[in-house]
Amino acid sequence: MDEEAILKKVFHFDSPREKYQCDAAVLSCFDNRFDLGFRKFLEHIGVANPDPIRIAGGAKCLASPEREAEREFVLDQVRKSMRLHGTKRVILMVHSDCGAYGDLAGGFGGDDRAEAAHHQRELARAAAKLLEAIPGIEVQGYFVDFDGIWDAEVSSSQPLAQRPVV
Ligand SMILES: [Zn+2]
Repeated sequence: MDEEAILKKVFHFDSPREKYQCDAAVLSCFDNRFDLGFRKFLEHIGVANPDPIRIAGGAKCLASPEREAEREFVLDQVRKSMRLHGTKRVILMVHSDCGAYGDLAGGFGGDDRAEAAHHQRELARAAAKLLEAIPGIEVQGYFVDFDGIWDAEVSSSQPLAQRPVV
C-alpha cells in the first residue's frame, strides 16, 4: 500500500487466495461454549470447508424466528453460499441452554429431556422450512449439549410430505 493508504497494517498472516468448494453451509448459534466441540465434530464428518452462518439460536431462525425477516435473511445466506461456493448441503444446529430459547432453566424448567425433545422438533421444522424454500438441498440437523452431538435424523432423502412438521 502507498503512503495515501488509510488502513494501517497491524498483523501479518498469509491467507489462501484460491476459492473453495464448500462442504456445507453450517447454521449454528454463536454460543462459544459449543464452538470447539462442534467444529471437531464437523471435521469428523468430513466438513473441512464450511460456510459458517452463526447467529443467536442457530436453526431457530428457520424453525421459529422472532420475525419472518430473520428466516428470509438466513435463506438468502444459504443461497449465496450455494452460488459462491457450490454448496449442496446445509447443517442445522441448536444446542442446550441456548439463550435464544430462554436457556435450560428458564425455557424448560431445567428439564434436559424436555429440552432435547423440543429441539428435535425444532430441527425437523427448520429442515422442512429449508426444503420448502430450497427443494433438493441436502440437510442434516444436530442438537449439541454438554456431553456431545446428537443427530436429529432430519435426512433430506425423506419426502417433505412424510416429514413431521410441528
Ligand atoms: Zn444459543
